[in-house]
Formats: sequence, C-alpha cells, structure tokens
Amino acid sequence: MKTSSDYLGRRLAAVPRGVATAAPVFADRAENSEIWDVEGRRYIDFAGGIAVLNVGHRHPRVMAAVQAQLERFTHTAFQVMAYDNYVELAERLNAAAPFSGPAKTILFTTGAEATENAVKIARAATGRSGIIAFAGGFHGRTALASAMTGKVVPYKRDFGPSVPEVYHVPFPGSRGGVTIEDSLRALDFLFAADIAPERVAAIIIEPVQGEGGFHVASPELLKALRAICDRHGIKLISDEVQAGFARTGKMFGIEHTGVEPDLVAVAKSLAGGFPLSGVIGRAELMDSVEPGGLGGTYGGSPVACAAALAVLDIIEEEKLLARADAIGSRLRARIASWQGRNTLLPTTGLRGPGAMIAFDITTTHGEPDGAAAKAVCVRALEEGLIVLTCGPFGNTIRILVPLTASDEIIEEGLDKLELALTA
Ligand code: PMP
Repeated sequence: MKTSSDYLGRRLAAVPRGVATAAPVFADRAENSEIWDVEGRRYIDFAGGIAVLNVGHRHPRVMAAVQAQLERFTHTAFQVMAYDNYVELAERLNAAAPFSGPAKTILFTTGAEATENAVKIARAATGRSGIIAFAGGFHGRTALASAMTGKVVPYKRDFGPSVPEVYHVPFPGSRGGVTIEDSLRALDFLFAADIAPERVAAIIIEPVQGEGGFHVASPELLKALRAICDRHGIKLISDEVQAGFARTGKMFGIEHTGVEPDLVAVAKSLAGGFPLSGVIGRAELMDSVEPGGLGGTYGGSPVACAAALAVLDIIEEEKLLARADAIGSRLRARIASWQGRNTLLPTTGLRGPGAMIAFDITTTHGEPDGAAAKAVCVRALEEGLIVLTCGPFGNTIRILVPLTASDEIIEEGLDKLELALTA
C-alpha cells in the first residue's frame, strides 16, 4: 500500500510550493461528507473542497447526471456548437437571480473568471473603468481578480504591477473595528482623492467575506452601497462564489440584505465538484459586450452543466436552505459552549449566517493567534477532521460542511474539533 508520505515527497519535488495544500495526506475516495486517504484513514470533511460541496461528495443525482452526459458528449466548446443543458442552466439561474426583471447568464469555469467577467460586463455596459472592492475581500488569483482581492500577501506582493483603476475601502467588522460609517467615509475620500464616482463602473462585494474571515456585509452597508450606485450609475456586483447555493440559508448570500445587485458572480457549489462558474446579470447589461468578447474554451462545460442542473434539483428537493439553518444552529450551539472553557483554547467571535459559520482563536490576552489556529487544524486532521482557517490573521476557523451531512456526522466532526481545541 502506498502511504501519503510516499506521495508527499514526489509532490514536493514535482509541484511548486506556490500551490499550498492544507492537509499533508493524499485523497483516495470520498462520499458525501467523508474522505478516505490512500492509507485508508477516514476524515470528516468540514472544508467541502473550499465551499464547493454543499451537496456533498459524489451526490448520487450529480453522478447520474454526469454519467448520462458522458454518454452523449463531453465537449464541443459552446462557441463552436451550443448545447441544451447550458441553455437550461442559464434559464434556471435567471429564474433564481436575486434581482427583479429579466436576467441573462453566461458560464465560465473558475470563480476568478466569474468575478473578472462581471467586471468586463460592467465596464462595457457603463463605458467606465473604475472598480471598487473591499480590503480583506477575495475575488481570485488571476490578474484582474487578484487586483480586486484585498490582501497583499500572498496574493499580490511578488507579482509586479497591479491592474490599474482598482481601489479598496475597509470592510466593516473586519480588522481594527471598522464601522459602516468608516467604510462609507473611506468611499467619500476615494471619490474626492482618487476617482470621480462617474468614472466608476462597479463596486464588488462578498455578502459574507469568505477567505477574509466570514465577516458579514450588513443590510445597512448594502443599502448604502446600493444608494451610492444608483446615485452615480455604478453597477453593484455580488460575489457569491463562496456564499452562494444555500450555504447561508438562502440561495444567494445577498438575499439576507434585501438589496438587489446588478451582477452576480457564481462558482464553487454551483456544480457539486465540477469546474463551473458564471455571471448572472440584468439582461440589459449582459448584452453590452460584442459577440466574441466573452467566453472561454471550457466555459459552461456540458459535463459540469449536467452536474449543476442536478445540484439545483437537490437544493430544492432536499430543502437545503432550511437544512443550512438547522446545521448552523447545531454548530453555533456547540461552538458557543466552548467559549470561556479553560480546558480549551480561547475562542471568540462566533459568527456567520446559515451554515457559513466561523470563530476566532485568540491568545489568553485576546490577540488573534494564527499559529494556534494552524495547530488546531493539524490536530483536527490527526483526529480525523478536515477543517480550514481564514481571515487576515489566519486565526479564524471556518466550517463549510456539506449541507447533506447527517446530524451524527456533524456531531462527530464537532467532537473531533473540540478535542483539537484542547489547551
Ligand atoms: N470569489 C470568492 C468569494 C472566493 O471565495 C473565491 C475562491 N476562494 C474566488 C472568488 C475565486 O474562485 P476560484 O479559486 O475558483 O478562481
């Protein structure tokens, strides 16, 4: 039997360290919310492939839909010859769009492509170039997406000049006790010092910052941004790549705010483990780009579209919006019970909507403790639990367990996490 360390040596020799891997074990197979490594060890999956597996690993309906598609064709390139399931998925996403009025959808492959193309569409529609994003936000690693990502290390520092005309303002609730007023004042300063609002094409925001630490964008913030966008003809982009598809207890995270965006970037859990992303937008904006200006060889792969149609059925039939809330209540109750227990590491800041739950690990003086959070993940892995950190200090433990996980599995995972938190 091969061991993970056999592969680890080869991985270090053959694959650069720039693509970091959280767990030093190698996957063999996975089912719903469990993964087994090549040595046969079982892990409960609280990472969900970084928010990709809201319907779990290898959901039977996803597998059946993909297998049926494999028997038909695997690729034509939508730009060469179109196919039915792309159009059907666009129709389904248009119907689910978190804004009123007609919608259109274009499909891509990765989350970064979704955020970049949302910006391209906003720029073409407005004839403007400025983009405003938030510090701590994450929108991808490609050139424009990493310019929009609000974190210098490791995403920007070593990669030369950033794409111009991308500006950041602080995100409320994140580092340094930023308030909504602080953020809006920073926006005012930006409009006075750097770019006139009538030169801004779009404001892009995550309804819940994912990599940035599961900080929630409040209804008050979104309402204020919507008003600013309306006043100046700016388009509002909701980056739902991590928060979308039932994770927060609603189909899209922005639905918690009552605010309607103009464009929505989607990816990850859209297709239950297959690479697929898209932009859903107001129909009048979506046709601003000349034919050929958008697309990509693999964009809207028919195999991934088949998976995504199954995912949308599963969310509905298995009532995953309600299930996300039930899972969230269970997670919150257990995590809250850990706070102030002196046999465990200090935890604080329990937060997040639905089943998009996180908490912070601090020193006994209340300072963010990224090293302790990292050690918790290592210990959790030894206990048989995969769990990830996030946030500007790496001290936030985030939970992205599949919404199809049973209560028993979730409790077992929480038992393992509790053990890993032992002081
Ligand atoms: N936006 C958000 C909110 C994300 O969380 C991510 C990925 N973590 C991306 C965009 C980029 O997605 P991808 O890695 O598929 O390019």
